[in-house]
Amino acid sequence: MKRILITGAAGFLGSHLCDRFIKEGFKVIGMDNLITGDLKNIEHLFKSEDFEFYNHDVTKFVHVPGKLDYILHFASPASPIDYLKIPIQTLKVGSLGTHNLLGLAKEKNARILIASTSEVYGDPLVHPQTEDYYGNVNTIGPRGVYDEAKRFQESITMAYHTYHGVETRIVRIFNTYGPRMRLNDGRVVPAFIGQALRGEDLTIFGDGLQTRSFCYVDDQVEGIYRLLFSDYIYPVNIGNPDEITIKDFAEEIIKLTGTEQKVIYKDLPVNDPLQRQPDISRAKEVLGWEPVVDRAEGMKKTLEYFKGFSQEELQKSEH
Ligand code: NAD
Ligand code: UDP
Repeated sequence: MKRILITGAAGFLGSHLCDRFIKEGFKVIGMDNLITGDLKNIEHLFKSEDFEFYNHDVTKFVHVPGKLDYILHFASPASPIDYLKIPIQTLKVGSLGTHNLLGLAKEKNARILIASTSEVYGDPLVHPQTEDYYGNVNTIGPRGVYDEAKRFQESITMAYHTYHGVETRIVRIFNTYGPRMRLNDGRVVPAFIGQALRGEDLTIFGDGLQTRSFCYVDDQVEGIYRLLFSDYIYPVNIGNPDEITIKDFAEEIIKLTGTEQKVIYKDLPVNDPLQRQPDISRAKEVLGWEPVVDRAEGMKKTLEYFKGFSQEELQKSEH
């Protein structure tokens, strides 16, 4: 049986990846220090003989006994309010953590895929974003701690490939949503749904004309799965190109949830990108991948998940 290490396993994407690899017949080792994750996301896996969990901070030396065939490095705060709250940890997990995992991949002769992000493009001046765009990031702005950690992560990953011959893959993930996002992680999907379910007005930051393009988690996992087993070593955008303004997205959620609430406006966070849409030509060409779940279907499933919380839990999650 092939063994795979997944860091960030108790988080949103990591937990879905654990499920997928268990389903595909892998031995999965999940690793997480629970800084933004929750064991609830993987507790259903604890009864499986094919799943092991290590509570470990990957910025410290990472040791895993036995052979390893693959590593997926997904540990990192991913929501702006998380990485603004824990900026140093964010820089460390992208830099020191990635270094540790690349060292482990080299030692074990394992293939490693690292989770990069559309944030490497910053507030993009090229639209939609292609992989050969170098980006527009403010290194010293508040989001720089995440963006630059991810840019360093890509550089050190390519260096390990070039200088040590490690088999590496780089996915640039665009806004992905679905069940198991943390209710209070501040990202727009749980924020708006949480507000609607609590009977509060939806908070739009800025004028709401900034755009995002939302990808359902199952599509994202499929893209990552295909990339891992492809022989393509350069970064690949995985996301859904269906772009929408945040204002229109709020209106969609109001309709979907049937809430009587309206929208209210708050200040736009510093360096919040004004537009974002993935160009997925490369993913189509090298992976034969494109998203198949549209926003209406994906949001319906996501709402079902959040409706599983009691009013008390919803109230507690308010930030
Ligand atoms: P998440 O916060 O739900 O999960 C991240 C997990 O990493 C958490 O369980 C957290 O506890 C763990 N973690 C953080 N620092 C750690 C450390 N030092 N050691 C061990 N574990 C640590 O976020 P997510 O949305 O699942 O994101 C997962 C990965 O995907 C991140 O690397 C993120 O940058 C990337 N990504 C996600 C999106 C998205 O839209 N969800 C977009 C772009 C990139
Ligand atoms: N946003 C918003 N209201 C909220 C949370 C987010 O208007 O309550 C906006 C945010 O300013 C950004 C977009 O929604 O323009 C997406 O934000 P998110 O934090 O989900 O992701 P990111 O900015 O990293 O793409």
